[in-house]
Amino acid sequence: MSIPRILPRAEHPISRGYIDPDALRVLYRLHRAGFKAYLVGGSVRDLMTGRTPKDFDVGTDARPQEIRRLFRNSRVIGRRFRLAHILFEGGKVVEVSTFRKTPDAVQGEQGQEGDDDLLIRSDNTFGSPEEDALRRDFTINGLFYDIATYAVLDFVGGVEDLERRVVRTIGDPLIRFREDPVRMLRACEFAARLSFEMSEDVRAAIAELNREVTKSAAPRVTEELLDPLRRGWGHDTYRLWSEAGLLDALLPELGGVGAARAAEGTAAGLLFALLREVDAKRSLGTRIEEATLLSAMFLPVVFDAVRRHGPLSSAGPGQILLILEDTVNPLALRMALPNHLTQTVKHVLETFGRLTSTRPADPGARRLAGRPYLKAAVALLSLYARASGRYREAAAAWEEAVEQGLGSQALAAPFPVAPAPPGAISHPAPGGLAPARKRRRGGRRRRPQVSAAPA
Ligand code: ATP
Ligand code: MG
Repeated sequence: MSIPRILPRAEHPISRGYIDPDALRVLYRLHRAGFKAYLVGGSVRDLMTGRTPKDFDVGTDARPQEIRRLFRNSRVIGRRFRLAHILFEGGKVVEVSTFRKTPDAVQGEQGQEGDDDLLIRSDNTFGSPEEDALRRDFTINGLFYDIATYAVLDFVGGVEDLERRVVRTIGDPLIRFREDPVRMLRACEFAARLSFEMSEDVRAAIAELNREVTKSAAPRVTEELLDPLRRGWGHDTYRLWSEAGLLDALLPELGGVGAARAAEGTAAGLLFALLREVDAKRSLGTRIEEATLLSAMFLPVVFDAVRRHGPLSSAGPGQILLILEDTVNPLALRMALPNHLTQTVKHVLETFGRLTSTRPADPGARRLAGRPYLKAAVALLSLYARASGRYREAAAAWEEAVEQGLGSQALAAPFPVAPAPPGAISHPAPGGLAPARKRRRGGRRRRPQVSAAPA
C-alpha cells in the first residue's frame, strides 16, 4: 500500500459550501458510523477547478448492505456491481459505492455472449481506497476528498495533472484503452471540455487503437456521442474525436473529413458549423430535444445523399423518404438508437425539408402546423439557418409561429414507408432495425454495469 499525496484543507480550494448539502449529509452519516467517506471522481475534479459538478458521488468502505441499513431512503442497485442510491427530495440521487478494485479478468463491454457472468463476479471485488483510485480512468478523475479531514487524497498524480492541465490515463494507456475503448472518447471529451491537453502517450495510444472503439457496446458509445452535445461542448469534442480518427471509426459518414480539412460546403464543414450553433444555444440555457440533436448530426449526411441523388426539385416526396431511410437507418442501427427515436428523427428531417419551402402564412402550412414534430424541426431549421446563412427568413417566421404556440411536442409514430420505385437503392425496412433492438436489449442488460463503473 502506498501513501497518497495529502493536500490539507489550506492547500486546496474545496470548501464544504460548494458541496451539495445532501451529499454532505451522506458523507457525514457514513463518517459518524465509523466508515471512510470520500467525495470521489468528477465532483472532486470539478470543485478543484472551480466548476459546478453535475453530480456528487461518494466512495466508502461500507458494504452495500451496511449503506442500505444506514440510510432508510436508499436502495441497492446494479447487477455487476452493487451500489447504493440515496434518494432525496426532487428526485435527487447521491450515489454511494464501496471501494473496489480492477477486476482480475476484464472482458470489456464487448465481451461475447456468456461473458456477463464472469463480469458480474469479477466486478464485485471490493478494494482499498488506493485500489479504487487506480481502477479509475484518468488521473484527474482519481482524486478523493475526505470528509474526516477535509483533505484531498491523491494516489494517482491527479493534482499535478490538474495543475498542468493534462488528461493522462492511470497506468499504461494502451492497456487502459484496450480494457475499455470508451475511455478514448472520454479522453478527448475531457480535453475539450476542460481545455486540457491529452498527454503524449494518450494521443499515441488513441492513434494506434482508435478502431477498437467500435468494439464497445453501441448504447454506451451513443451516450458518449450525445452527452457533449447536450452539455454544450459538442464542437470541440467532435473536433478532437475527428482528429483522433474516432469519429471516422464510429460514424464514417460524418467523420470522413478531418475537422482541419472541413471546408465550407462539405458534410464535415456543415457538421461543425451546426455543432457550434448547438453549443451556442446550450450556453444560453436553451434545451434542445434529443431528436433535434440527432437530426442536426445526421443533416450533413442527408444533404450529401440528396446532392448525390441529383437536383432536389426532381426528387419526389417518395424519393426523399427513401433517401432518409437510406441515410438515417444505417446510422441509427450502428448507434443502436431506440426505434421510436429513429422514427422521430426521420420525421424531423422530413418536416425540416418542408419548412424550408413553406411559410406559416402559406395555405399549405396548416397541415405542417399540426405535425407533432414541428417544434423539433423548427429548432433544426433555426440551427441550420445560423450555421449556413440560408433560410434565415423561413427560420425566423417558423420560430415566431412556434413561439406563439404552434405545434406540439414530438410524439413517436411510424415513419411512412416509401413506395420503392423500380431499381431503387434498397434500404432496411422498419424490420431491418431488429439488430439494433437486439443490441439494445443487450445494452440494457449491461447498463447497470455501465452506470456502476463511474462511481
Ligand atoms: P461528468 O459526470 O461531469 O461527465 P465524471 O468524471 O463524473 O464527469 P462519470 O461518467 O460520471 O464522469 O464517472 C464518474 C467517475 O467514474 C469518473 O470520474 C471516473 O473516476 C470513473 N469512471 C467513469 N467511467 C470510467 C471508465 N470507463 N473507466 C474507469 N473509470 C471510469
Ligand atoms: Mg459524474
